[in-house]
Amino acid sequence: MILQVNNIAFNYTNQTYFKGIRNVSLQLGSGEVLGMVGKSGSGKTTILKCIYGLEDLQSGEIFLEHEKVLGPAFNLIPGHEDMKLVSQDFYVLENHTVEENIFDKLIGYTNEDKQKRAAKLLKLLELDFLKHTRAKHLSSGQKQRVAIARALAIIPKVLLLDEPFSNLDKLLSEKVFAFIIAEVKKNNTSVILVSHAAEEVLKYADTIAIVDKGQISQTGKKWDVYYKPKNSRLAGLLGDFNILHPQDFEKKFKAKTKLFLRPDKLKLGSSKNQADIMLHVLNCTYNGKCFEILGETKNGNSVIGYVNKALQAGKEFGFSAEV
Ligand code: ADP
Repeated sequence: MILQVNNIAFNYTNQTYFKGIRNVSLQLGSGEVLGMVGKSGSGKTTILKCIYGLEDLQSGEIFLEHEKVLGPAFNLIPGHEDMKLVSQDFYVLENHTVEENIFDKLIGYTNEDKQKRAAKLLKLLELDFLKHTRAKHLSSGQKQRVAIARALAIIPKVLLLDEPFSNLDKLLSEKVFAFIIAEVKKNNTSVILVSHAAEEVLKYADTIAIVDKGQISQTGKKWDVYYKPKNSRLAGLLGDFNILHPQDFEKKFKAKTKLFLRPDKLKLGSSKNQADIMLHVLNCTYNGKCFEILGETKNGNSVIGYVNKALQAGKEFGFSAEV
């Protein structure tokens, strides 16, 4: 394990409505990407700040490899040197050019290596044409890209990403993510990716931790957490879901208890005598990727399904359930 967080607790002294973070434990393996999801205000950023050493814990411990991470009360320069935190509060050297901003983070590199690394990052972040422009003349989106380039100049042991690309357009953010994942796997760096967008986390993370009211409510391999969430509250944080009862199914399906089913586990196409479940379609809309249907079972339970063609509302269709 590269990072070990043992039962930490922290709260802001001036805060009444947020009870702080409690009993937070997690482990991060070398080369692992951990996605942290949860509602806004649930404490994700606070957990990252504690891990990075920006807050003094009330209890618990954090270890990076075998070294204890200390908060500002014990550390002159807050923030651990083997970790990097990239957040939306970005920092650039205003009076320096874009290229100099990147060089600044490549101390110890030969001139040739500096040029090579900077060229790669300038291209990646589509900053090539601005490399000789001073940062103070850039727009805020461009400055954010410079800040990201600075953060990625040298990939640290642990990279903490706090919704860092929320201001980038989708294609660029995909490109930067793909670059990070490749670099991370190559260097065995570990990443904690904080996001409120479940889709982003499901795409890039290996493991997931769901943060709810200052605690980690569930953690595990990504698809285990997605398909087997502990309860409906946590299930909803990662996307659409259905709860089906034995009475919702056709006779051949032997469900004894309630079943949790993500919409992608319902497959259209079974004839009535082969179907696990029949759905009376109430509504069918195209969401840009697939057709989303709202259907009703014979028991009157509402169900969401994803299908690849338009289904006529008012008609009944057979589905198989992959459980
Ligand atoms: P998330 O990242 O999940 O949106 P945060 O960790 O940013 O959540 O915030 C958790 C709670 O702590 C929020 O209610 C927020 O207002 C509060 N908070 C964050 N930073 C401070 C601070 N410096 N002082 C007091 N309260 C804070």
